[in-house]
Amino acid sequence: MTTVGHSIMGLALGTAFLPRGLSKWSGAGFLVLMAAMACLPDWRVPFNRHLFKYHYHHSLLVNCIILAAIAGTMAIAGRLKSRRGWLVVAAISAAVLSHLLMDSFYSHAQGVQIGWPLGSYRLTLPIPWLHVQKQIGSFDWFHNRIRLMEILTFGPLLALTIIVRKLILRRAKGRRNDGRLMES
Ligand SMILES: [Zn+2]
Repeated sequence: MTTVGHSIMGLALGTAFLPRGLSKWSGAGFLVLMAAMACLPDWRVPFNRHLFKYHYHHSLLVNCIILAAIAGTMAIAGRLKSRRGWLVVAAISAAVLSHLLMDSFYSHAQGVQIGWPLGSYRLTLPIPWLHVQKQIGSFDWFHNRIRLMEILTFGPLLALTIIVRKLILRRAKGRRNDGRLMES
């Protein structure tokens, strides 16, 4: 999956988990954070040679340790005393773990070695029209078509999440207004 597909999924999860009552800028920052977290296993860090090999940086164990470190840091900073703090941890976890699932959708069916280092099992759920990049950062027709197919595949999920959230918020607002009318 390219950054495009992962970021769309991160935005969809960010929309679903977006804490209520945030300012516009804080909300936008939260969504950007979710898109970045959905791409985290592909981040260019030393020894991370992602593209065709999905082992330690796409391992369930390694990513859970990273998530535990994030939660621990937030706890030390006193950010887990409220429900909102736990909501953010749940959102980050969903975004990071979505990456492993989405990489298993590649049509090459090599799979993601999520069990590393405990086992050699590879998660593979190939979708015929989702192809792997041959060269990261290339913008030729082949690679743009890969990105386009990811937008067409996962874009509707993001749109659906936005619509459902708006409907839920509108309904909650209507209930609050009804409650006020009953009281007055
Ligand atoms: Zn990846």
